[in-house]
Amino acid sequence: EPTTALDASLRQGIMALIDDLRREQGLAVLLVSHDLASVRGSADRIIVMRHGEMVEDAPTARLFAAPNATYTRDLIAAAPRLDTPLPEKPEVGQPLLEARDIRVSFPRPGWGKGRLAAVDGVNLDIRSGESLALVGESGSGKSTLGRAIVRLGPCDSGTVTWEGQAFPSRSAMTLAHRKLIQPVFQDPVASLDPRWRVRDIIAEPLQHLDPQGNREALIAEAMADVELPSEMLDRLPRSLSGGQAQRVAIARALVAKPKMLLLDEATSALDVLIAAQIVELFQRLQRERGLSLLAITHDLALARLLCHRIAVLDKGLIVEEGKAEDVITSPAHPVTQRLVKASAS
Ligand code: ADP
Ligand code: MG
Repeated sequence: EPTTALDASLRQGIMALIDDLRREQGLAVLLVSHDLASVRGSADRIIVMRHGEMVEDAPTARLFAAPNATYTRDLIAAAPRLDTPLPEKPEVGQPLLEARDIRVSFPRPGWGKGRLAAVDGVNLDIRSGESLALVGESGSGKSTLGRAIVRLGPCDSGTVTWEGQAFPSRSAMTLAHRKLIQPVFQDPVASLDPRWRVRDIIAEPLQHLDPQGNREALIAEAMADVELPSEMLDRLPRSLSGGQAQRVAIARALVAKPKMLLLDEATSALDVLIAAQIVELFQRLQRERGLSLLAITHDLALARLLCHRIAVLDKGLIVEEGKAEDVITSPAHPVTQRLVKASAS
């Protein structure tokens, strides 16, 4: 999985590097990946595994042109594309979160090297029930911006309002504020405490955010929301699949009934079939709850599928923003053009 966390242009760069090394040094490469599309350009042969068995072993061109196994066919078909027909997106409501002139800097490594402006003055608006995708190449500042806005990370300056009221800085947050926005991260297994059972992982936010609530009932409701059976409550994270673990992380985010979710690459580590199920889950939550989403992703096809609007970040600045379809069909900024080109190939 050497390219899992990377955007499409970087991914091509890394794969080209591996390819060059292979040719120059006569290396053999065994590439393990959950993403068929990303190995298509470099693998001579592909083995598809499922439930511990090889279901297909074929030269790359043959595998894509005429896949034998149903599972391979499903994997190829499930990959979101920039021209996949779009479902109707839910109605959006009133302005919810407004961020103005957000700035975050970090010291550059080394003595006297000054500071790096990771987020360099960004404005961002999200309405209730709206989903906004924050896309950009790796290192463009997406995660830093997302964390600054929801007060999970540092923020040097700028203001955030929630329904017109000031949203306090990290140190001044109350529990009522914390309840409003909950995060879901990329690596489901790493983001869950390995020693805790599913029940305790989901219950933990309740201790602080809803101590009066009926714990068992709220946990059961969150499990139903993410379509996990209650038998799983006594399991440890290591015994869950990636998709199940991500559902637990989503249940933990939902249990205190937030109004908005911050998704930071929440499907990037999952294979396309599981990712598609998680996307469906987010779509349902949006429809049923009017949840707002701030979805950080390097995947434009996913952004288009899930989000009303797309904002493109480059070197800490929003360089392009608009309706998801418009940004993808007529990208104006070179970074957006690069991302579109890379996702279309
Ligand atoms: P993205 O999520 O778009 O890949 P990040 O927000 O993680 O980008 O990073 C933006 C920039 O800020 C990068 O140059 C990164 O190296 C730098 N950065 C992020 N977090 C820190 C940190 N804690 N200390 C120093 N530099 C950081
Ligand atoms: Mg990031």
